[in-house]
Amino acid sequence: LIIPDFNSFCKEIMSIYELTNKNKGGNVATYIPQLGRVDPEKYAISICTVSGQQFSIGDSTEDFCIQSICKPVNYCMVLEEHGEDVVHQHVGREPSGIGFNGLVLNENNLPHNPMINAGAIMTCSLIRPELEMADRFEYVLNFWNKITGHQNAMGFNNSVYLSEKETADRNFALGYYMKEKGAFPEHTNLLNTLEFYFQCCSIQTDTNAMAVAAATLANSGICPLTNERAMENNTVKNCLSLMNSCGMYDFSGEFAFTIGLPAKSGVAGGLMLVIPNLMGIAIWSPKLDKSGNSVKGIEFSKELVKRYNFHSYDSL
Ligand code: GLN
Repeated sequence: LIIPDFNSFCKEIMSIYELTNKNKGGNVATYIPQLGRVDPEKYAISICTVSGQQFSIGDSTEDFCIQSICKPVNYCMVLEEHGEDVVHQHVGREPSGIGFNGLVLNENNLPHNPMINAGAIMTCSLIRPELEMADRFEYVLNFWNKITGHQNAMGFNNSVYLSEKETADRNFALGYYMKEKGAFPEHTNLLNTLEFYFQCCSIQTDTNAMAVAAATLANSGICPLTNERAMENNTVKNCLSLMNSCGMYDFSGEFAFTIGLPAKSGVAGGLMLVIPNLMGIAIWSPKLDKSGNSVKGIEFSKELVKRYNFHSYDSL
């Protein structure tokens, strides 16, 4: 077992949970109307270590939409399918320096990275484009099932999907902009690609399952619950590198500095945190700060690295 005294570690996590639960700051995202209707006080933390030790506290069995947390996973999927060279003919790997839905491409007329909307729309275009839409979606769900240890925990929130689609002018603009610049692979169907992106954002699960997905990344692609390899080491290495530099919106540099761990947040208040070779952590709390990150999620992460040497460079 990777953490010998798992009980005292869990007690410490509980104490951080109680402490950070007092933070009442932030606001629920409202730009997708259905997201504005969730209970803002929800708070959950789940942990899964690379040896399969699990712990959860709070609303950890309640579903929330993964939103942008689909981005690193879709990126892994296309790396597995096409390899790094092909994928990066269509998307860069540099932070954009502006918001996640910024209407901007890099100097090669490509999206800056796969962790922002433009890049995530691009990676969606690369996921099994030869298949029917239904099969492509099933392929994504199957991948999630693999990395969450086949707990049948992945669902789909149709109201969020419909709401998202109705309010997606910016994503349509990004799609058309990239189409105009010839950024997509040949034969890409733009409207299908956008649909597919909205659907991926509307996948839902709980922190319990998401922590297992994070642990699969921490464990270089092998799910600690099933010992099944879901992806290659190199895929995970690439994904964690970009989560580290681009995963936390406009706070990515700050997060890399203060927390020093690869992470990805979503506007529904989810946060996936990876401690390589040790554990995955999932946090969910819907109230967001001005960068769009979960307030409690950030607080929790800060408190965690205060109490443990988890920052990548703490070992120096
Ligand atoms: N579905 C959201 C959007 O495209 C995802 C963004 C996010 O979580 N930051 O706007």
